[in-house]
Amino acid sequence: MYKINENYLNLQGSYLFSTIARKISDYQQANPEKKIIRLGIGDVTQPLAPSIIRALHNAVDEMGTAEGFHGYGPEQGYAFLREAIAANDYQARGCDISPDEIFISDGAKCDVGNIQEIFSIDNRVAVCDPVYPVYVDTNVMAGRSGSYSAAIGGFENLIYMPCTEANGFVPEFPKEVPDLIYLCFPNNPTGMTITKSGLQDWVDYANLHGSIILYDAAYEAYISDPDVPHSIYECDGARTCAIEMHSFSKNAGFTGLRLGYTVIPKDLNRNGVTLHSLWDRRHGTRYNGAPYIVQKAGEAVYSEQGKQELKAQISYYMNNAKTIREGLSAAGYTVYGGVNAPYIWLKVPGMSWDFFDYLLNTVQVVGTPGQGFGAAGEGFFRLTAFGTYENSVEALARIKSL
Ligand code: PLP
Repeated sequence: MYKINENYLNLQGSYLFSTIARKISDYQQANPEKKIIRLGIGDVTQPLAPSIIRALHNAVDEMGTAEGFHGYGPEQGYAFLREAIAANDYQARGCDISPDEIFISDGAKCDVGNIQEIFSIDNRVAVCDPVYPVYVDTNVMAGRSGSYSAAIGGFENLIYMPCTEANGFVPEFPKEVPDLIYLCFPNNPTGMTITKSGLQDWVDYANLHGSIILYDAAYEAYISDPDVPHSIYECDGARTCAIEMHSFSKNAGFTGLRLGYTVIPKDLNRNGVTLHSLWDRRHGTRYNGAPYIVQKAGEAVYSEQGKQELKAQISYYMNNAKTIREGLSAAGYTVYGGVNAPYIWLKVPGMSWDFFDYLLNTVQVVGTPGQGFGAAGEGFFRLTAFGTYENSVEALARIKSL
């Protein structure tokens, strides 16, 4: 008789965004005439930039010719894309990362979820609280979390690092030393970030204790402050303690196209085995490579014209962030984030799910309750800047009218 993976039974509720989608759909069915503004899920709204569309068209045409047809590609990604990433995202910033340390995938979510597979089940895992739920849930599925405890509002075997107003939403070193440390800056959900010296402290800590930092840089393109690092490899010693994940979703609008990458320096080595070799084996076994046409679109992100177009797109979203942040602040709300990230972390009166229901029912604005990202997210509410400018202004006016 077969048995199921009972670790799945430890998962809490449904995935946060499915719960929100259900609440919206129930409300809309009951109130079909109401216009809901969605500033909840972190999906982008601007169309793909012209350079990307051109690259897609060209690649599609190529695929229809005998000479230009591409079947299975290299599982790790085409050299043209790995080289463009190494040159632009790393070497241009003084980071020592080579193309063969970059693994192309169909997005950061899969990579941040799958990466834990190459580590032993008995590693102790640390996550920020609040946190992007994928880090937690994939460790629950693997059996690394222990049981959920309502008393602590989290899993017994996970180490939670609260990110609060008191510590500026930057985690402090936990009492117990973790083996795997998930960090995400600029942060989802708080929209806050870390300075280069703050990240250097984490790199030094990980090297001292033999821990690994799993660094999610999905929002790197939104950084505007010069002392905020774009990559963990800007810190000395990161090659011996850090894996970094990137997405093309937020810097270039690939949420529907799907493209991302993971960097595993060859210096990451435990008892003579490199993490690079394990991930290479995993990728080659379970993955057949991101589509050629999507990788060609990814290459266009690094063209001169692509860079200009995407800079304008990011400015558009960050103007929304500024409008929401400054508008709410002027209306007397306490707001965080929205400067180096497209998320605004709003302090709410009372409980965050109550605030969610209140906003939906009274002014038809949707955000994400902070509690859905962890116990320390209670009392906060995430709004995204990924809507249109018109909707951002309208949502702001509606919230201010309350
Ligand atoms: N990492 C973080 C922190 C995110 O917020 C998201 C998406 O919202 C992802 C990863 C997923 O990125 P992708 O679309 O590349 O899978």
